[in-house]
Amino acid sequence: MRGRVIIERVTTVVIGAGHAGLAASHFLSERSLDHLVLERGEVANSWRRERWDSFRLLTPNWQSRLPGLHYEGPDPDGYMTMGEVTEFIERFAKLSRAPVRTGTNVTSVRRTDDGYHVTTSQGEIGCRAVVVASGACNRPAVPPLSEAVPPDVEQLTPFDYREPGQLPDGGVLVVGASATGVQLAAELRRSGRPVILSVGEHVRLPRIYRGRDVLWWMDASGVWDQRYDEVDDLTRARRLPSPQLVGTPERTTLDLNALTSLGVELVGRWAAVRDGRALFSGGLRNVFALADLKLERLLDAFDEWARTRGVDAELGPPERFAPTRVPSSARLQLDLRGGEIRTIVWATGFRPDYTWLDVPVVDEKGRLRHDGGVVDSPGLYALGLPVLRRRRSTFINGIEDDAREVIGHLARHVAVRRGS
Ligand SMILES: Cc1cc2nc3c(=O)[nH]c(=O)nc-3n(C[C@H](O)[C@H](O)[C@H](O)COP(=O)(O)OP(=O)(O)OC[C@H]3O[C@@H](n4cnc5c(N)ncnc54)[C@H](O)[C@@H]3O)c2cc1C
Repeated sequence: MRGRVIIERVTTVVIGAGHAGLAASHFLSERSLDHLVLERGEVANSWRRERWDSFRLLTPNWQSRLPGLHYEGPDPDGYMTMGEVTEFIERFAKLSRAPVRTGTNVTSVRRTDDGYHVTTSQGEIGCRAVVVASGACNRPAVPPLSEAVPPDVEQLTPFDYREPGQLPDGGVLVVGASATGVQLAAELRRSGRPVILSVGEHVRLPRIYRGRDVLWWMDASGVWDQRYDEVDDLTRARRLPSPQLVGTPERTTLDLNALTSLGVELVGRWAAVRDGRALFSGGLRNVFALADLKLERLLDAFDEWARTRGVDAELGPPERFAPTRVPSSARLQLDLRGGEIRTIVWATGFRPDYTWLDVPVVDEKGRLRHDGGVVDSPGLYALGLPVLRRRRSTFINGIEDDAREVIGHLARHVAVRRGS
């Protein structure tokens, strides 16, 4: 215990009051298991602090469902703004009477003989079990080559970015073509700036397919329900980039063809910086062809599902989309000292932060070792990570089943220890 005094005891500590931690709290309360939800900021902190001004969910409103709370507003097919998501999660916290302690930063979690010792900015807590619901996206993942970028080019991550007006005038290089990258590239281009988008592996999706939101198809066809222990390559599935989607009132598709039409210039994956020049991979044709092929396969699977379910007649006819247009001569390098690019936006993904976790359960890539949320240390659990227990795990609508099952395991663990 290294001389630390426990000032409080509780059976379970939940770390994080995003929707995942609150869902854990819901099921703990349902089982009358005493617990605390510790939150360093406020309820729904990530949505309040870590998104840009124009942000909207890419999942439609009717998919915003949490245990005992569904969207009941007038626009089920719309997409929530940041303020609306925050309100929705706050409402969930109130409804489920979650025992949240805000402004309480967890700085260390260590194993003890009978559970865990949690050190926070507000004191020490002893507990039997811990649920890590601190989020999968605590830090922007910026590649080391960013350090070689000339100093007069400004660099931003999506955590710093709020709106185009905050950037200096001039060209922007957006790196990464997943949901965040395509959304920021489009917004910056619409603000009148020249925008170059560096594209690596990506997931292309239309917003609407056969008259329905593409995420309706993911939901209805059962693609999202595939369990983690049925996925062929789980490591890969957990690292899959987010799809090229945006939630707008117009329900528009935001794939690379849409960006090209907006005037965004596409270049390959950023591979190196040499003498102040960004060097991009060639082979855009292959990268695009792969994303197009995966899209075709997904649409084939949707069509097959509709046919076998006998719901073809309720839907529009099958559609296929034009291949991604390959630029006639994509640039392979860009002089970052020439003034053409004034800002680089790193939309290269996010990663979790477990620097406070003093239990040896984090691998060399910084990922938590767990089996469906049951972490490799008795009494330690996780929620809210990609493909935690099923493909939908990372989304708001994926938490209910995951949290019920993980808290079920936790309840058995605590009961066994109580009985022993
Ligand atoms: C850019 C972006 C867009 C997304 N869009 C969608 C979408 O459209 N639809 C959808 O369903 N999902 C979306 N997601 C995925 C997912 O719903 C969000 O990431 C969601 O915030 C995850 O919820 P969570 O509860 O797991 O984590 P978070 O919401 O991140 O909550 C974790 C909480 O833990 C707190 N915390 C962290 N560390 C500590 C600590 N040491 N001590 C105390 N508290 C701590 C944080 O302050 C935070 O409040 C998106 C994610 C991102 C990054």
